[in-house]
Amino acid sequence: MRRGCLSVGTVDCDICKCHIPYPERYVVVDEDDNGEEVVKGGKSVRYCVECAKKKGYAHYREIKGEMVLTFLRESDVSIPEPPSDKA
Ligand SMILES: [Zn+2]
Repeated sequence: MRRGCLSVGTVDCDICKCHIPYPERYVVVDEDDNGEEVVKGGKSVRYCVECAKKKGYAHYREIKGEMVLTFLRESDVSIPEPPSDKA
């Protein structure tokens, strides 16, 4: 699963190894050994926004007339999150 995060300035992208400065956003994705997203049990991989976009983990949605970067899948947006999934 994915967790959208805000860098506190001590985070590096696991893919391109770039530093993610505060207060840039990044996403942590649980992946298996093949790099496929899994719901749980995988390893946590950090993606900067650019790498997330390349892999399809991030996209822009229009919300109230503004383009907002989201790490959710289209299918996730309409589904309420179970309380246990909240950070
Ligand atoms: Zn990156």
